[in-house]
Parts: sequence; structure tokens; C-alpha cells
Amino acid sequence: MLLSVIVPMFNECEVAEKTFRTLEGVLKDVEHELIFVNDGSADSTKEILENLLTETPQNRIVNFSRNFGHQAAFSAGLLAAKGDAVVIIDGDLQDPPALILEMIKKWHEGYQVVYAQRKSRTGESWFKKTTAKIFYRLLQGLANIDIPPDTGDFRLMDRCVVDQINALPERSRFLRGLVCWVGYKRTGILYDRAERAAGYSKYPLRKMLKFALDGITSFSSFPLRLSFIMGLIVTFIAFCLAVWSVVEKFLYPVTTSQGWTSLIVSIIFLGGAQLICIGILGEYIGRIYEEVKQRPLFIEVKNEHSRT
Ligand code: UDP
Ligand code: MG
Repeated sequence: MLLSVIVPMFNECEVAEKTFRTLEGVLKDVEHELIFVNDGSADSTKEILENLLTETPQNRIVNFSRNFGHQAAFSAGLLAAKGDAVVIIDGDLQDPPALILEMIKKWHEGYQVVYAQRKSRTGESWFKKTTAKIFYRLLQGLANIDIPPDTGDFRLMDRCVVDQINALPERSRFLRGLVCWVGYKRTGILYDRAERAAGYSKYPLRKMLKFALDGITSFSSFPLRLSFIMGLIVTFIAFCLAVWSVVEKFLYPVTTSQGWTSLIVSIIFLGGAQLICIGILGEYIGRIYEEVKQRPLFIEVKNEHSRT
């Protein structure tokens, strides 16, 4: 059995060597290949990694021509991996490498996806923890598949899962959702997320927002449906208001200003009608989006591996 471990690296010169040594230490009794994806680092990450890899010919590095992002790095790693099982792990030692051995145990028990779920997070700002918590709850509520909360990309996947993900042609790749979409037998391991070993977070607010939007729009068409729902609500209010203003006109003909009734009713009705029409367009756009993503209609389990 061969294990591939994918590690994205973006300007991680402070931790690159420590990550490499820790992974090699943990995996000394497991046949493995480390695949470092250098996501367009501007510092000495590339040189440090290339130097380290001369000691270990089975390990590899994939160099990007510029910074394409964390999720693109994982996708590149998944395409390059040759292992029977593939682990993806952050390069800053926030995901404890020792957990990989537990994941392998679960894999031998017959699980095809073993994800690591965060019990606690240390060394991260209140803002990051709170927004992450809200995001995972929101995603769970909106997504049409079951995505476990507080679960990052740190996970082990069987070859059959990796092949399915590699075959998906969609471009905005929210990996932690795609793995759930693909299915198969999965289980989680709880862990405490450590602080970054060194360096600083490469996820500024701008990237975090893009990432959150990618996640929600890839797995939910609720935002498109929103204007339809709002349209229905506004039209209902307009209808009540119309009834009231007509009644008012006849009950208090002196106090109602001329033209008010017809004006207000037509404005609100038109607003509602427009929102409903946008909502209908949204429904069709949602369907076009489903079509262009070209996800298969179903995935059949071909052969259950037995790894005991
Ligand atoms: N990373 C990457 N490309 C990016 C941003 C991040 O390859 O554009 C890598 C980074 O080097 C690290 C991992 O993705 O190994 C997680 O990033 P980071 O620790 O900065 O994110 P955080 O843990 O703060 O959310
Ligand atoms: Mg990190």
C-alpha cells in the first residue's frame, strides 16, 4: 500500500523544513510519497523544499507559475498522487500529522473517507473562530448535501474517491464539499487544532469571503431562490395594502390625498412582480449552473476494497 500526502505551501519558508521533518518522522513505517504543491511562493519555500527532496527521491514538488490558491493546490496534488490512499494536510502544522496514523487505521477498517473534525481551535483570532463557526452552520443549513461542520480539508481519501473527484470537471472547487458530494463510507476523528508552527495565516479576509461564497454557491441554489421568495412576500404585502387603501379611500374620502391609492398600490405590485420574474430567471439560471457543472447523475460502488 502506498500513501500520498499532499501539502500546499504558499510562502511557508519558516515552517517548510519543520513540516517536512515532522511528516517524515510520523510516516517512517508507512510507504509514502509527500507531494508539496508550491503555490507561487515569493520567498525561499521552493529552494528549501527542493533541497529537502534531494534526500528523499520518492517525494515530489509541484511548482505553480503564480499563486492560484489553496484549493487549486489540492486539486493539483490529487492529480499528481499515485497512492492507494491520499491525505491532504495544511503545511503549517495546524493539522497534527500524528493523526494520519489514526486515519490509516480507520481506512483499514473499511472507511473510504476519514475526515478530521476540529474540537477546538487555538491561536486563532476571535473573529476567525466566530466567522468560521457561522459559515459552517450556514453551509450545513443551505447545502443540499450533508457537509460535516468544523471540518477542514485535512482528511484521508481512498483511491476510488480521489478518482471520482479528479473526474469532476467543475472549476470552482470547494473540495471539502466535493468529497461529501462523491459519497462513499466516511467517518470523522475529533482533534484539537493547534496554533500555526511559525509564519502567519495566508488567508486574509478577502480570500476567506471568496472561499465562503464558493462553498455556498457550489452546493446551494438558495441565494438564487431568494428573490422569488422576496417577490412573493412583497406581492402579498402589496395585496393587503391595496385592499386597505381602497377601503380607506371609501371610508375616509376627505383625508386620503388624490392619486395616493393607485400610486402606492401600483408601485408595490410592480416591485413584487419584478422580484418574482427575477426569481423565475434565477430558477432557470440555477438549472443551467447544475448542467454546466456536469457532475455525474450517480456514482456506483464498483469494488469494495478489503484492507485487512
Ligand atoms: N495556502 C496556499 N495558497 C494560498 C493560501 C494558503 O497554498 O493561496 C496554503 C498555506 O501555505 C497553508 C495552507 O494553505 O499550508 C493553509 O493556509 P493558512 O494556514 O494560511 O490558512 P488558515 O489556517 O489560517 O486558515
Ligand atoms: Mg493554517
